[in-house]
Amino acid sequence: MRFLPQIFERNRAWAERQRAQDPEFFERLCAIQHPSYLWIGCADSRVPANEIVGMAPGELFVHRNVANVVCREDQNALSVLQYSIDTLHISHIIVCGHYRCGGVQAALGPPLTQPLEGWIAHIRRVREEHAAELAAIPDDEARWHRLCELNVIAQVRILAETPTVVNAWKRGQTLDIHGWIYDLHDGLLRDLNVSLNGVPK
Ligand SMILES: [Zn+2]
Repeated sequence: MRFLPQIFERNRAWAERQRAQDPEFFERLCAIQHPSYLWIGCADSRVPANEIVGMAPGELFVHRNVANVVCREDQNALSVLQYSIDTLHISHIIVCGHYRCGGVQAALGPPLTQPLEGWIAHIRRVREEHAAELAAIPDDEARWHRLCELNVIAQVRILAETPTVVNAWKRGQTLDIHGWIYDLHDGLLRDLNVSLNGVPK
């Protein structure tokens, strides 16, 4: 018995389309992985990294988790970072959050059970750091959206302080970190204008 046959069927159709458009597609990707970008995004099913920036397989190295958090103790994220910078030599890291993020919304609500609460605690800290600004926003949705933005900005700063990034900058490697946000309403990305290409002053 084979499970989820419809997904295998979609996969076959996709592979056939790729080969019809570009007969060398799979052979080329087998030979080398040379993306220029590391994408750190939310695991939300509505924000598929490659699709929303129109990039093909091979163009984007992707790490996704709940609410695009970069935790200093997360061996998973730190390993992705190390591999993408030291081995793949990507030149841009994009932290991309999105409005209406459930993970960010959870950080505005009551405590959850573990282990999710331990993860959301990272965003609760961002909320606490910006408590005055957030409290001044009377509208719940606007406050939620602002925390989505502040969360991205905080992760950009954390990335800039990781040893892997600091060492890359010290040895003169080209590496920019960007903070963007995606709007589910119109499918568009917005630049939060917090890009860094050196240790913040
Ligand atoms: Zn999200």
